[in-house]
Amino acid sequence: METCKHYIQDQRIAYFSMEIGLRAEIPTYSGGLGILAGDTIKSAADLNIPLVAVTLLYRKGYFKQEFDQQGWQQERDIQWYPSHHMQLLPSKSLISIENRDVKIQAWLYKVKSPTGGEVPILFLDTDIPGNDDQDRTLTDHLYGGDQDMRLKQEIILGIGGVRILRALNFSIKKYHMNEGHASLLTIELLNSSRVPLEHILVEHNAWNILQVTEQCVFTTHTPVEAGHDRFPYDLVEKIMPPEIPIPLLKELTGQDNLNMTMLALKLSKYINGVAKRHGEISQNLFPGFKIHAITNGIHPFTWCSPFFVNLFNKYLPGWANEPELLVRSSAIPDAEIWEAHCGAKALFFQYVAEKTGTVLNPELLTIGFARRAATYKRGDLIFSNLERLLEIGSGKLQFVFGGKSHPKDDEGKKVIQRIIQHIEKLRGKIDLVYLENYNMEVAGQFIPGVDLWLNNPIRPLEASGTSGMKAALNGVPNFSVLDGWWIEGHIEGVTGWAIGPPAAETDQEVGRADEDLEDMYQKLEKTIIPLYYSDRAGWIEVMKDAIGKNAYYFNTHVMMRRYVTEAYIH
Ligand SMILES: *Cc1c(COP(=O)(O)O)cnc(C)c1O
Repeated sequence: METCKHYIQDQRIAYFSMEIGLRAEIPTYSGGLGILAGDTIKSAADLNIPLVAVTLLYRKGYFKQEFDQQGWQQERDIQWYPSHHMQLLPSKSLISIENRDVKIQAWLYKVKSPTGGEVPILFLDTDIPGNDDQDRTLTDHLYGGDQDMRLKQEIILGIGGVRILRALNFSIKKYHMNEGHASLLTIELLNSSRVPLEHILVEHNAWNILQVTEQCVFTTHTPVEAGHDRFPYDLVEKIMPPEIPIPLLKELTGQDNLNMTMLALKLSKYINGVAKRHGEISQNLFPGFKIHAITNGIHPFTWCSPFFVNLFNKYLPGWANEPELLVRSSAIPDAEIWEAHCGAKALFFQYVAEKTGTVLNPELLTIGFARRAATYKRGDLIFSNLERLLEIGSGKLQFVFGGKSHPKDDEGKKVIQRIIQHIEKLRGKIDLVYLENYNMEVAGQFIPGVDLWLNNPIRPLEASGTSGMKAALNGVPNFSVLDGWWIEGHIEGVTGWAIGPPAAETDQEVGRADEDLEDMYQKLEKTIIPLYYSDRAGWIEVMKDAIGKNAYYFNTHVMMRRYVTEAYIH
């Protein structure tokens, strides 16, 4: 294949992800999982790690978010043109879905680094003339349809992805499954090994199971049992290609449902969670397996605002490909840190004014909260006691919110609606805006443009979280519940502030909202607001430590070096 020729000389790591977020114009992601995948690939390119990524194309994207008069989320299809960004490859693969032949094609996107490194991404697509109409829309929407659609997409990703890599002559050293969505790739690898399948069934430790396991790496992202993909076998039998042995699937993952996580666990040599705490939680969920932990990161250059790019270039040259240099953040003069921050804040406030008509006051302590509007993230927690919040924050605080709810998640939409309804109630006392359509482009201005980054999920549901790392990189301290990465990044009063009790005491915790809320109000009132207004030098010290003690470490360069040494080369 002409266009892939220079990618197939070396053995590569095949990185499979249901979503990949590279930039806002390519709307093939919904949130943290996809952006992590994109950042992973970008760091791999920077570090010259031989990797090829596989995902689906999603011609209509995830969705564009708008609000109606009542603050209720509306979803619109996104129009975008794959051919503006990527190149259609001529080879196709064939797969049988629901007993129909479905052709799959791949679009090649090249992630190129200034270091000269380059990582190809294959975006799989079934919108091909000759495919049945219902199959041409299979790759239209990310997380769009019902279970039936989800299983078909996972067949395309896992089985189709392996076949496309073969058709293009890629030579693969390891298959890395970013979450369980891709785990059917294991069964395709098994299926193509040469020993007849009856032998696998008879002898569980068959040579080919070991062969496949040797090649597979699995990263789990979901800290609750109920969050893992499961498909009933009647659905599986109806949809799965006939060459995939259902009895083997049952033997591997249980007789009741096809449990995608179990499949990945059973057939991976290296398994990890995405933060230390999440590793422990996963170890408890899956006692029969050894679960490691590699804490997530963010791609430094992607998430650094131009103001801080300039500053870091001046004082810490080389930081973008060696983010460890950020450990020397104290070398940057206070005045220049503050000036860079005010630049990012002013630019963001201008954006807010254009989008919402609300002119925020640059002098006020501004708290940001934006992420997927899933209920466990408790976006409206801080408004639980309005009287108290007004007492503490009237004339001193303002808020910017953002984030999409999954189209089927009415509870998440209600959270957004409640936040929007507070705008009127607080007007004139605490300004508050909810930005529409939070995506990578909005996030890139939003996160560096506030003073404090708030996160208050229900423990232990935030497996890692990454937006707080983006904040730290831009000198925005975190104010967060001790969950996910923040357990590792938090030093009280140094890198930011904790909300609620330490992690060790809070294993299974629902209904601790009151405790978290009280602590949040107390810290705002007694510590954070006074520091911001009365001790600017002290505040800037925290900003510098967010950079020097968080951002230098919580990035995908550090993370990828760990995947290479701990998961890929063995
Ligand atoms: C970073 C990012 C996320 C992930 O945020 P979390 O706080 O880790 O949940 C989600 N959406 C967008 C657009 C992001 O940039």
